[in-house]
Amino acid sequence: MTGPDHLDLRRAVIAACRALNRRGLTPGRSGNVSVRVPEGFLITGSGIAYETMRPEHVVAMDLDGGYRGAVLPSSEWRMHLDLMRTRPEVQAVVHTHSPHATALSCLRIDIPAFHYMVAVAGGPDIRCAAYATFGTAALSRAMLAAMEGRSACLLANHGVVAVGASLAEAVARAAEVETLARQYWIARTLGQPVVLDEAEMAVVLARFRSYGQQRQENDPHAIEMPVRRDQPRRANRRTTRAGPR
Ligand SMILES: [Zn+2]
Repeated sequence: MTGPDHLDLRRAVIAACRALNRRGLTPGRSGNVSVRVPEGFLITGSGIAYETMRPEHVVAMDLDGGYRGAVLPSSEWRMHLDLMRTRPEVQAVVHTHSPHATALSCLRIDIPAFHYMVAVAGGPDIRCAAYATFGTAALSRAMLAAMEGRSACLLANHGVVAVGASLAEAVARAAEVETLARQYWIARTLGQPVVLDEAEMAVVLARFRSYGQQRQENDPHAIEMPVRRDQPRRANRRTTRAGPR
């Protein structure tokens, strides 16, 4: 008998679930994870404890909402399906009930640009989606609207959705949203945080887009690089000169 297909990706989904759980982002059995495959996507099964989850508990779904096997997909399969269907750049989706972000979602407020890292969700704020009952197509529609031009959002009275170009990126983004929510909560208990204006967030967003890439000459938003001392002189000059030669 052969094992389930995409075994490595199934194991990666389980590893992502356990990482989220270890970091306290998915209390109890909350949260679910999916990753894109050529036939559709793989998603965590419904109501299975992360400690006992095995590769066959990760369910294969197609982009028309069908699934294979005896295990039911997560009750939030619709959100994963709709993101995979409408956002071709999305390779992975993470949904959590992380405590601080969920608490903010109960106030039904967007997280403003109180900190530049809000740009991690792709825009000048992290929106909170309109409320709809869990596991419904209405919730998925509300989520898609809040995700317009974003890679993460809050779900009113519920939790967080984050996407990524990889499982690791989606997990990291969900964790960052929780960190931001906690920082915003602390700041709000002390007073009214100063929110960065649109112009500054445009600069931050441009920097996020160029972050980690090779420095482009003449890019006004590129991260300023320190001088590396142990490189050959030619290479050193290349990376530190501001203008074209
Ligand atoms: Zn949920």
